[in-house]
Amino acid sequence: MNAPAAAALLPPQLHVFVRDWLSANNILLKSRDGHVLIDSGYVRHAPLTLALLAGARGIGHEALAFLVNTHCHSDHVGGNAAIVRRYGCPVAVPAAEAPLVERWDGKALLYDYCDQQIERFAVDHVLPADTTHVWGDLEWQALAAPGHDMGALVFYSAEHRILISGDALWEHGFGFVMPPEVDPEALPATRATIEMLAALDIRIVLPGHGEPFTDVAGALDRARRRIAAFEADSLRVARHALKVNLMFSLLDRQRMPLAGMADYIARIGIYRDFNALFFRLPPARLAELLIGELEKAGAVKREAGWLVPA
Ligand SMILES: [Zn+2]
Repeated sequence: MNAPAAAALLPPQLHVFVRDWLSANNILLKSRDGHVLIDSGYVRHAPLTLALLAGARGIGHEALAFLVNTHCHSDHVGGNAAIVRRYGCPVAVPAAEAPLVERWDGKALLYDYCDQQIERFAVDHVLPADTTHVWGDLEWQALAAPGHDMGALVFYSAEHRILISGDALWEHGFGFVMPPEVDPEALPATRATIEMLAALDIRIVLPGHGEPFTDVAGALDRARRRIAAFEADSLRVARHALKVNLMFSLLDRQRMPLAGMADYIARIGIYRDFNALFFRLPPARLAELLIGELEKAGAVKREAGWLVPA
């Protein structure tokens, strides 16, 4: 089903702002009782997030009752601080994420550890799993969806059979997962989350990245196949995580000097730690391995001494 057709399946008070891969999608739930926004994108795109929120499909300068996050990765909470400045609204994050945000744990939240930019924000409310919330005049169940992020929530409307999935389920895959050697719980939790979602009656998924989609069974099958491949080969999990992170940083920076890549790999936490655990290569060779695989996949190219998105 194409995206406009999928969007036509949504109640009129629900608006999805589909963003690019650097910023997570924003989901706006409008109500006379107070508007709620779910996820705020990446910090570099905060001006666009504010413009969408104030624009024709947004809320203008009406009050925002709540800003809610599915999880606290930089591409989902990067607009939090700017939105709070503009609208003065409280921020609600999953209960399991709140302590990490309160102590601003840049490793657990994958901020500086992954070379991701972020503006600090404060948590006003925590959302425990298995609670119900009325947002946009619809009832949403907050369900624990650990895996890609161990504290993540998804939001499910049983009446409308809508799932707001964050990075727990995309049309083609899910957010990268930590290898078993780094977090032994992550892959089993990812599998359990996919089976939890498979047991829900879902008509349409509003993912954290990509267009809304209705082929839920297909997406779940693809997720299961990826999990099986990951379970069979933790080096593959590690390579995948590093490539996803490198691609993210490249999209953020637009270009990176090829001559500086070895130094970058040696300096940024996730590459340094994964290299020590899995690859044990000179940083220049790990850089070459990652760039080579991304190049083969058509994601990056080399141009006059620079690595750029293809
Ligand atoms: Zn994420």
